[in-house]
Amino acid sequence: MSTSPSCSAFRPNNNPDNLHFIHREKSHWKDHTRYTFTMDEKQDVTILFGGLTLLQDKLIASALHSLGERYMAMPNPDFESFQLGKAFGNRGQCNPTYFNVGNLIKYLQKLRDEKGLSSKEIIQKYLFVTAGGCGPCRFGMYITEYRKALSDAGFEGFRIMSFEHNKGIFQAVNDNSAINFTPTFFITLTKAVIIGDIINLLGYKMRPYELQKGATDKAIEACRKIVSEAFMQKKNLVKAMWKCREVLEKVGLDRLQPKPKVMVMGEFWAAMTEGDGNYNLHRFLEEEGAECIPQPLINRLMLSIWEAEFALEKTQDIEKPDQKKIDFSNPKNKLLIKTAKIALKTHFTFYAKAIGLHDFEIPDIQKLADLSKAYYPLESSGGEGHMEVAHLIESAKENLAHLVISVKPFGCMPSSCVSDGIQSLVTSRFPAANFLSIETSGEGAANFYSRVQMALFKAKQAAKEEFEALDIPKYIPPKIHHYLYQPKTDKAGTAARLIQSITPKIF
Ligand code: SF4
Repeated sequence: MSTSPSCSAFRPNNNPDNLHFIHREKSHWKDHTRYTFTMDEKQDVTILFGGLTLLQDKLIASALHSLGERYMAMPNPDFESFQLGKAFGNRGQCNPTYFNVGNLIKYLQKLRDEKGLSSKEIIQKYLFVTAGGCGPCRFGMYITEYRKALSDAGFEGFRIMSFEHNKGIFQAVNDNSAINFTPTFFITLTKAVIIGDIINLLGYKMRPYELQKGATDKAIEACRKIVSEAFMQKKNLVKAMWKCREVLEKVGLDRLQPKPKVMVMGEFWAAMTEGDGNYNLHRFLEEEGAECIPQPLINRLMLSIWEAEFALEKTQDIEKPDQKKIDFSNPKNKLLIKTAKIALKTHFTFYAKAIGLHDFEIPDIQKLADLSKAYYPLESSGGEGHMEVAHLIESAKENLAHLVISVKPFGCMPSSCVSDGIQSLVTSRFPAANFLSIETSGEGAANFYSRVQMALFKAKQAAKEEFEALDIPKYIPPKIHHYLYQPKTDKAGTAARLIQSITPKIF
C-alpha cells in the first residue's frame, strides 16, 4: 500500500501543489516504468546523478559535460536525506536506498520550496540516472523504491532512468531515447571514475601525515580542477595527471609517525561513501590517528569483469537437453571481457604512473578467489561476493593492515548475513587478525564510534610496536617524506615500511 509519512517534520508546506498525498486515497501502488526522455526535450532537461565519492561525482559531471550532456552531481547524502528516505520509503530497505532516495527527494523539495518550481516543472525539467540490475539481495528493488518514494513525496512521474550495472559499456539503447548510454558514454564515465580512484588513494596516503592541516584537501581540489578542465577541453588526461604532481609535491609531509593502517572494506556503498552514510568513517579514523586503506571503485569494476568471466566459464559445461555439450558458446563475449580487463588496467596504470601512485596493485580477483574459495562458495554472487572474506585473509597473510573494518548497512544480506558468518571461521584460523565487522543503521553513531575506537586501540599498539622494533638509521634521507617514495616491504605501517626500506640489509 502507498502510505503517507506521519512525522510532522515531513509534512509539505501549504503550497496546494504539495498537499496531494494527504488527501490521496490509499491504493495499491504499481510501478509504471514507461518513462520517456525524447530528443526534443534534451536541451531543457538536467540529468541528476550521484552516490560515489565527492571527487568522483564532480569529475563525472565534467567528463559527461564534455560529451555535451547536461549532467549534474547531487550533493552528498546526509542524515536529513536518510530521514526523508525512511519517511517516504518502504520499511526494511537498505541504508544506501534510504540515503540516496531521500537525497533525491531532499533536492527536489529544495527546488520546489526554495526555488519556487512547481512539481510539474521539476518533473519536466529534471530526471535522475542510477545503476540498476538484478541480484540476490534488495539491490534489485532500488529503482522501484525510488519511484514509489518519489510518488509519495509529491513527484509522481519523476523519471528514474537506469543502466544495468553488470552489462558494462554495452547497454540496450532505445533509438528514440535521448539518454546516451553508448560505449563512448561509459568509457568517459569509467575514465572519470578511475582517475577519481587514483587521486583519492593518494589523498588517503598523504592526509594523515600532512604538516599543515587541510593542505592535502586543497591540493586534491586543485588536481580536480586540472583534470576537470582537461575533460572539458578534451585535452590529454595523462598530461593532466602529470601536471597534478606539481600540486601534490607542495604538500609537506612527516611520514615517520607510526600510525595504524586500517583497511576499510565491506558492502560497496557503505565502505565507499564519504559522509553520514557510514558516519564519516574514513575521516573519523584519520582524526583518531589512523591511515585508511579505502576500497577504490576499480576493485568493484574488476570484480564485475571477473564475475562475467566466471559465469561464462561455468556455462561451458552446461549440457543441452540432447546431452551434447555446448562448445565454448560465445567466444565473442570472452574476447570482450578480456579487452575490457586490459583496457581498464592499462588506463588505470597510465594515469596512476603519471600522477605518481606507484605502490597500488590493481586487485587480482582470481588470486582473491583462490584465497577465499575454501571458505566462500564462489558461485554465491551478490554484494561484494567473495571479496570481503578474501580481503581479510589477504591482509592477515600478507600483513597489509593493523585493523580490517568491514562496514555494512544494517541487515545487509551478502555482507552481514553471509560474509560475516564466514569471517568468524577466518578469524579462528588467523587469530592474529584484528577484525571489526560493524553495521550502520543511520542512527546509533555513539555505539559505532566506540566500537571503532576499541579496535583502533589494539591497532595503534601494533603499529607502535612494529615501528619501535626497528633500528632507526642515523641519517634519514629527505626523500622519505616525499609522496612519490612508496617502497614495499613486509611491514604494514607506512613509517615502519619507510624505515625498513632505508635500513641496510644484513646477510
Ligand atoms: S548489498 Fe546489502 S546494502 Fe546493498 S542492496 Fe544488497 S542487501 Fe542492500
